[in-house]
Amino acid sequence: MKFEMQQSVSLIKGIGPNYQKQLQQLHINTMGDLLYYFPRTWINFSKPVSIANLRINDVVVIKAKIIEIQNQITYRRRISITKALAQDDTGQIYCQWFNQPYIPNTLKKDSVWIIFGKVGYDFQNKEKIINVIKYTKEQGIIPIYSESDKLKSNFFTKTIKNIIEKIKIDEYLPDEIIQNNNLISLQQALVNIHFPMDNLMLVKSKRRLAFDELFFLSLKTIYKKYKFKLRQAPQIITAKNELLKLTKSLPFKLTLAQNKALYEILTDISSNHPMIRLLNGDVGSGKTIIAIIASYIAAINNYQSVIMAPTTILASQHYDKFTKTISNISQVKIALVTSNIMKANFKLKNNDKKQIISQADIIIGTHALIQKDMIYERLGIVIIDEEHRFGVKQRAKLIKLNNKKTIPHYLSLSATAIPRTLAQTVYGNMDVSVIDQMPSGRKQIVTKLVDSGNRNKAYEFVKNNIKNGRQVFIICPLIDDNKENQDLLGLDKKTVLKEYNKLKKEIFPEYKIAYLHGKMKAKEKERIIQDFACGKSDILVSTSVIEVGVDIPNTNIIIIEDADKFGLAQLHQFRGRVGRGLHQSYCLLFSTNDNIKTQKRLRAMEKYSDGFKLANIDLATRGPGEFIGCKQSGFLDLKIASITDTITLNQAKHSAKEIINNNIENYPALYKIIIDDKSKK
Ligand code: ADP
Ligand code: MG
Repeated sequence: MKFEMQQSVSLIKGIGPNYQKQLQQLHINTMGDLLYYFPRTWINFSKPVSIANLRINDVVVIKAKIIEIQNQITYRRRISITKALAQDDTGQIYCQWFNQPYIPNTLKKDSVWIIFGKVGYDFQNKEKIINVIKYTKEQGIIPIYSESDKLKSNFFTKTIKNIIEKIKIDEYLPDEIIQNNNLISLQQALVNIHFPMDNLMLVKSKRRLAFDELFFLSLKTIYKKYKFKLRQAPQIITAKNELLKLTKSLPFKLTLAQNKALYEILTDISSNHPMIRLLNGDVGSGKTIIAIIASYIAAINNYQSVIMAPTTILASQHYDKFTKTISNISQVKIALVTSNIMKANFKLKNNDKKQIISQADIIIGTHALIQKDMIYERLGIVIIDEEHRFGVKQRAKLIKLNNKKTIPHYLSLSATAIPRTLAQTVYGNMDVSVIDQMPSGRKQIVTKLVDSGNRNKAYEFVKNNIKNGRQVFIICPLIDDNKENQDLLGLDKKTVLKEYNKLKKEIFPEYKIAYLHGKMKAKEKERIIQDFACGKSDILVSTSVIEVGVDIPNTNIIIIEDADKFGLAQLHQFRGRVGRGLHQSYCLLFSTNDNIKTQKRLRAMEKYSDGFKLANIDLATRGPGEFIGCKQSGFLDLKIASITDTITLNQAKHSAKEIINNNIENYPALYKIIIDDKSKK
């Protein structure tokens, strides 16, 4: 009888309650879970190298005869070392094991073994030596699994070998997808990922399983978007004369990229199905004006727009921009609603939130906008700034705001520069417009990775700028010295509190310094930022909370301590806090990490001012974890695929689209997986 994927591992011979519990801790409950517990790596024992060619630090496989073998006790009599002299046609080398005195029972004199280990240097005897990781008689490719305290790699090898032939593996991909993408069958892939016949089969298995991961990720997001798009939404038609009136009144011309994004948005909202679109553009690329135009056009159609920002400061900033821009040409009613501010550009009879909301055409605010009692009678568009700062639930609430059968169009603004290829997939459930061009005439922000020897010079430079009336941000990765942080980041990293105290006492005693971090109450944070914005302090020492959206044009220097702790995309966001006014601005990076790669990565900040370019470098050097959105969309859960593998990614996406276009219900196996997955959540 064959096993089924969803059957419990307890049915496997030899797996009692004890093992079952150990497996559970690795989230392995079913036979399927076990099959999908892929090896961490594979050792190719079929390709030994010659002893004469070994280089220090290489991880190698040799095939050699044991010439002599014995146990030794170190002079401190604490560790036992087993040393074997191994020989092949090209030479001899000592191999060693620690605390495994039973090794000589197996590796007898004159027997031949395949030995895997790392080449090191024996300082005492001044010669190369192999620190053995594994030895075997078998040729071939051996899987190595991640181990837990109790479950060792060999346990997985044995257990999986035991069931692999007995388990029923159903193919779920349709033939045409398998053929068009040159894939091997699921059965072959799952067998060969654990026990590869040869290297080629291992490569093919990895590719098939990576394809599947990316395929299902794409299929899920595309399906979700497809279902969303079936709903009804208000049709918002662009009145060309009004559009012209507004764009002509601006003190600048829209960039090409802005125009393209605007066109995509206006086209979307003119349909009676909801828009779901991300407007992705670097800090300062001009996303706000696009939001202003879209909500103005909605107002002309007598539909409301809601603009939600993560902080009161940002919401107020938006309110000022919206009113200034629109009141030049029209009487559109605009209101600001936060938990403690209510404001409007039209007369209010009484300061009643509900009344404001029923009258205003454009409503700007914070979370206060989505409280239970908020009812929008003619909602057309929801625009959300810095969406990643909001939870998924809040987003779902926004879409449901409408009182009617329709749902509003949805536009998300994000300044996380994400490589274009990645954006399309990370945000697979949305359409994406990218503004990858800056308005002309921007001053470059001078960026320098400062040598620690020049720290005092940098502080002098800061003093001169403050004397000239400017202000300064200083960013530290940590708040205070708690143990956990130190373990995470290493000792002696700059913390906001330490730095604040030091600067105040030793470096800038004559200036006013404030500090800010994420553990403060929201109100207190806002007060500190407001105070800083109106010049009540000269220097603000902060953690990364300052990252989003703060617009204080008088600040012209940002210093980033321990800059290596941040990704380039994030450093670029910090840098965007300056260079917003008329003053020449500076970004000074400090780092005590003199690893060459790290230094090179940080130097990229000096070289490039383009967030997209930096994001590409981040992606190549640090992987996708740097990108907000990746977490939400499950990209970090990938076991075997990589999103930087754009070829497989595109093939998987293409196939997923085909399935949706042909109606997924025609593919019962796939449909079941998608529906099951939904009900789990
Ligand atoms: P972000 O994309 O970071 O939200 P903003 O929308 O705040 O950027 O725009 C930054 C600044 O650039 C604003 O002062 C805005 O008025 C200005 N701006 C926007 N578009 C243009 C343009 N096409 N030409 C010149 N300045 C522009
Ligand atoms: Mg903005």
